[in-house]
Amino acid sequence: MHIFRSIALWRARNHAPFLGEPTLPNPDCLTPMPSDTAFDLIFRQAHLPGHERPVDIGVRRGRFAAIAPALVADAPEIVIGGRTVLPGFVDSHVHLDKACLLGRCGHLHGGLKEAIAAVSAMKHDFTVADVYERGAQVLERAIGKGTTRMRSHVEVDPRAGLRSFEALKSLKRDYAWAIDLSICVFPQEGLTNDPGTEELLVHALRDGANALGGCPYTDTDPHGQIERLFALATRFDVDLDFHLDFDLDASWMHLDEVCRQTKVHGFGGRVAIGHVTKLSALPPDAFARAAERLAQAGVAVTVLPATDLYLMGREATHDVPRGLTPAHRLLEHGVVCSVATNNVLNPFTPFGDASLLRMANFYANVAQVGSEGFSACIDLVTTLPARLMNLTDYGIAIGNPADLILLDAPTPAEALAGIAEPVLGFKRGRQSFSRPAAQLHAPAREVVQPRTVSFRA
Ligand SMILES: [Zn+2]
Repeated sequence: MHIFRSIALWRARNHAPFLGEPTLPNPDCLTPMPSDTAFDLIFRQAHLPGHERPVDIGVRRGRFAAIAPALVADAPEIVIGGRTVLPGFVDSHVHLDKACLLGRCGHLHGGLKEAIAAVSAMKHDFTVADVYERGAQVLERAIGKGTTRMRSHVEVDPRAGLRSFEALKSLKRDYAWAIDLSICVFPQEGLTNDPGTEELLVHALRDGANALGGCPYTDTDPHGQIERLFALATRFDVDLDFHLDFDLDASWMHLDEVCRQTKVHGFGGRVAIGHVTKLSALPPDAFARAAERLAQAGVAVTVLPATDLYLMGREATHDVPRGLTPAHRLLEHGVVCSVATNNVLNPFTPFGDASLLRMANFYANVAQVGSEGFSACIDLVTTLPARLMNLTDYGIAIGNPADLILLDAPTPAEALAGIAEPVLGFKRGRQSFSRPAAQLHAPAREVVQPRTVSFRA
């Protein structure tokens, strides 16, 4: 029996990149699996957490079907050969509907209020096709950077109507071959003060929205908004994800009310809060108390480094505060945390390539995380956001969808440090992207003949 079928043939058929020559494992180590040899694809020699030695990963009908030191099977295969394997990045907080707006806004690049006002003014003109086209740009970049799961917020209110939501539903359907998109509808410009908004949210929740977001700081009655959103989330049985405490005044917070309501409604493990930059302004004791409160309530935190860094501390003329909540310190208190993209190329964040690895690197750099914490920073864009989003089928484990990416680095920590390129990705066992390595074109070297030098004594 051929242990290795022609990898070249498979590669040609699937347009897969070259990943190094396969090397035959020691036959003494082969584990016969006579009753379980039918795989559609095998990844060879993967280093996975919890396994001391490299393992093979068998894929059948789009799911991980076997993980063992040396699978014996006649199937196409990819030799991982020392690269980092991950089950894809999980972006728990993106705004696809207002991405890629830089070309059409002539606003001043100010703080948070100016950014909300700038998008509000443009929102009237959003069409379904327009939102779809801009959202697709971000999705395609994210897919190529290794993201396999994403939660996108989308603004639903009388200005945008349900047009952006309709576009996101189409994006979710059309890109399901590469990414699982979860849609979180939310009232960016207030709920209790914005007549018609709640009715639109209810319509969207009846029509396939997966989660409900909030933004109490733009509401004239912040606690009233929090209460209404918990009532709607309970009614429609969806998770909640608030934009919260997005400034550096630590003298008051909405965090306490969200934790309280989470306990009242029995929603522990189903509530996330994003930004929460006020936490970055707390001294250690108060920070620890807030972290304990979040952990006890089961409220998760998403840090959004690009936007938080860009918008916070605008009043400072020098020594500008970072305004970045230290997720890795919250983790020490048992808070589920994630690092996510938020906005891409718009007034909130005029940067972005939808790369979560770059964002995790950016976070680590700004938060002064040392190399001993790099691996945990990878968790902030993989396993932890998967927990935040309650994704129960995420990860390289038997029975889960065969989502997998390869990074061009030997370990996750080195991938983070060097922002390693994702070279190959699979979604449900089907290849979703590839990225050939850059080729350098050095000039041909002139062959210099050694000159004969004579010395005189
Ligand atoms: Zn956001």
